[in-house]
Amino acid sequence: QALHQQIVKINDLQEKLREQANRDSLTGLFNRRYLEGTLERELARCKRENAPLTMLLLDIDHCKLVNDTYGHQAGDEVLRVFARALQESARAEDIVCRYGGEEFLLVLPKMPLNIARGRATQLLELFRQTTVSFESSRIPVTTSIGIAAVPDHATGVENLIRCADQALYRAKSTGRNRAIVFTDT
Ligand code: GH3
Ligand code: MG
Ligand code: MG
Repeated sequence: QALHQQIVKINDLQEKLREQANRDSLTGLFNRRYLEGTLERELARCKRENAPLTMLLLDIDHCKLVNDTYGHQAGDEVLRVFARALQESARAEDIVCRYGGEEFLLVLPKMPLNIARGRATQLLELFRQTTVSFESSRIPVTTSIGIAAVPDHATGVENLIRCADQALYRAKSTGRNRAIVFTDT
């Protein structure tokens, strides 16, 4: 009986560790490590079902300025609020991930490009209406979004991310606070 209880406890701990290894500690979202283990599989599943897979790469605008103006703690709070809003807007099958410092990746299995574009517009609107409360400050937060899809722009994971990154770059260079779909030109 005692041995059985210990085994149950060990299994619980292992499960907890596995979960922690896949999560980002600041926001609680999945981390890049988890994404790398999952995206390939998700894409394969979508292809098998002849379904599209769209990706939104989001990068918070002027995050460094937020840190410089309000402090690093305030910047952390912006990231947490941003992450929560993303998670709350997600469908059960979406993967929401903190991809880097202030970059987030939203993977939308089975979502065609035109619907995903609408999702991006909704997210931009949501963030425009959001201010982050920190101490006595109310901090505005906007984001830029790059969008790319399989099969429209790429067939593999690596190229898909590269396309989303290029679109994000264009969203930044054309003024931020907007979503841009990848184009070859
Ligand atoms: P841009 O609109 O071009 O994206 O400007 P930016 O300042 O957001 O981008 P840049 O890549 O120049 O800098 C990223 C900033 O994000 C710098 C860094 O201090 C901040 N950042 C990244 N991770 C964290 C974090 O975990 N906490 C806080 N507070 N800031 C972070
Ligand atoms: Mg960045
Ligand atoms: Mg940024």
